[in-house]
Amino acid sequence: MVFWLAGVILLFALGLGPYLSHSPRSQCRCGPDDDCWPSLGAWGALNGTVGGQLVQLSPVGDVCHEAKYSNRSCTELIQHFRNTTWRVENPAALQVHTWEYSRQQKQSCHVSDPLEPGQCDRGRVAHYSAYVQSVLEVQEVVQFAASNRLRLVIRNTGHDLAGRSSAPNSLQLHTAGLKGIRHVESFTPQAPDGRSIPSEGPAVTVGAGVLTGELYSAAAEGGYTVVGGSCSTVGIAGGWMQGGGYGILTPSRGLGVDNVLEVGVVTAQGIYVTANQHQNQDLFWAVRGGGGGSFGVIVHVTFRTYPDVPAVVSKLNILSPHGPDSAFWDTVTDLLRTIPILVDRGDAVQAFAMPVLPGNQSFLTIESYLIHDSHAGGRDALDELQKRIEDRGLPVESSDEPFDRLSTYLALPKGLDQAGMGMMTASRLVSRDFMKSAQGPSRISQTLAQLSYGPGDVLSLEGMVGGPAVQRKATADSAIHPSWRSALMSLTLGRGLPSDPDWDAYDRIQNELAMTQLPVLESLEKGAMGGYLGIPFPYESNPSRVFWGSHYNRLLALKGRWDPDDLFITRLGVNSERWDEEGMCRVDRKQVYLRQYYKFLDRVRAWAAHRVGKS
Ligand SMILES: Cc1cc2nc3c(=O)[nH]c(=O)nc-3n(C[C@H](O)[C@H](O)[C@H](O)COP(=O)(O)OP(=O)(O)OC[C@H]3O[C@@H](n4cnc5c(N)ncnc54)[C@H](O)[C@@H]3O)c2cc1C
Repeated sequence: MVFWLAGVILLFALGLGPYLSHSPRSQCRCGPDDDCWPSLGAWGALNGTVGGQLVQLSPVGDVCHEAKYSNRSCTELIQHFRNTTWRVENPAALQVHTWEYSRQQKQSCHVSDPLEPGQCDRGRVAHYSAYVQSVLEVQEVVQFAASNRLRLVIRNTGHDLAGRSSAPNSLQLHTAGLKGIRHVESFTPQAPDGRSIPSEGPAVTVGAGVLTGELYSAAAEGGYTVVGGSCSTVGIAGGWMQGGGYGILTPSRGLGVDNVLEVGVVTAQGIYVTANQHQNQDLFWAVRGGGGGSFGVIVHVTFRTYPDVPAVVSKLNILSPHGPDSAFWDTVTDLLRTIPILVDRGDAVQAFAMPVLPGNQSFLTIESYLIHDSHAGGRDALDELQKRIEDRGLPVESSDEPFDRLSTYLALPKGLDQAGMGMMTASRLVSRDFMKSAQGPSRISQTLAQLSYGPGDVLSLEGMVGGPAVQRKATADSAIHPSWRSALMSLTLGRGLPSDPDWDAYDRIQNELAMTQLPVLESLEKGAMGGYLGIPFPYESNPSRVFWGSHYNRLLALKGRWDPDDLFITRLGVNSERWDEEGMCRVDRKQVYLRQYYKFLDRVRAWAAHRVGKS
């Protein structure tokens, strides 16, 4: 408290406060109200280069409001609201729809009762969207944005949990039309000078707009498997791969970034380049973990593929009738002791805990994926877990579903394919050493038990980020935080946000995550825990430390080489500290220091809050 007060007094005594909110216009990109915004003729010309697929966007909810009100369209919108595929296809929509709103401007166009239309504001919806279907079209859009000093945003499926696939006053490059899936038995990466290099074996090349589910379906037909995530509408070659990417096969086959053999990228200069272990190696390193929307537009990715294998999907559902009591948290401890056994065998576990449900109940659902020859040992561990839970008097509902081919299971639609919800997340990677230590599992559940939860809050425990293959791939150098290589589980706090804009509630939840919940999680392994960029806390105070650690300086240098003018900027992304929150105006060095100072104050406040909470 003393530090904080001293800091505030010093800041305002120096009269520096105003610098935080203003940038000279020369340091800003062109917005629709600026003279430098392209003319209608220029937009028309761009439309011609993308085959007439440039559209001006308005918020999806406008058909429920004022001028554009239509009872029929609004009713249809309400029907589609939670449909993930509809959101993927609609360039003005995002999967977590609260990112369509602007908290800064307090603007939204929320969908209300069709009979009571109210105000609709643009919020964070991009101004124009260019739907691209070829490398040439990507190059045209990139060059148009660069030469007109526009805010360019790359948007694939709109799943991003920090709103990074949209920005106000921007031109959106929509990659959903870059389809194409090609599987080959023997893939040879391109060498720069036609040099002959050995084949990497079977692989699949996917366009940037291919959805995970589309690739899984093609793999099921082709009789192979590929490492991908759980949600079928996430874009496998977009944000998933560039953030690291994990899934059921990660413990046995590695992370998404470990399985990339080659990428095709359109750079900030609009040049198409191939990057792999033989050419443009530095770019290849950076895009594998450096984060989506930061180094160029990925147009295609080639992933290693693997033989199909049998698998058993085993589910345990536990309903605690007395809320999050000691029996519930002891069950979480047992689960945390079981996860390393499974992950070390190459199996995977995904569990969701909902500590507070209506009627003072708590719920834990555990899905385990027992892959090929590890069935027997994994089954023993799960039987032991179930027995312990039942001995504790908690009812367990269990099921086992065997699949001759894992690819069949992967291609099935999953319950995770949900959209149109408000959520704020924060994640940390927990190390293998901590998970396997005698006290580690109980310390984690005791720590989680300290936090307060509401009815929409979910804790996810993902035993699919580490394992033998991730450790082995320690030599496959990529930009992801080094702590991935010693991690065994990702721990995510998902806080539900009210659907209708409630700015006070959003502020409260953000503050709780920043000031109490994340610091409490971080106290588990002080200073050692990285976070997952794909499931981030959007207001992380030190993103470079949390997402890249010792790799950040190299990423910054590569950013300077491949994108010296910062055409590609995202929230939390590489060099984002030099830009304002929406990537519209550069902040000068003084502002960077002030921001760091504010962040330091935040951490002091968080520390102080935690101390007070403890005493
Ligand atoms: C319901 C749900 C389930 C999830 N499940 C998993 C999971 O099982 N495993 C896992 O690892 N992660 C998971 N995630 C996280 C997910 O991987 C990230 O949200 C990811 O960033 C989504 O990428 P996208 O391309 O589909 O989304 P988008 O929102 O379209 O893009 C995400 C980011 O990547 C950039 N980007 C997109 N395409 C390109 C491109 N072609 N070139 C350059 N930049 C690009 C965008 O600018 C943006 O910054 C899940 C997320 C959700 C919401």
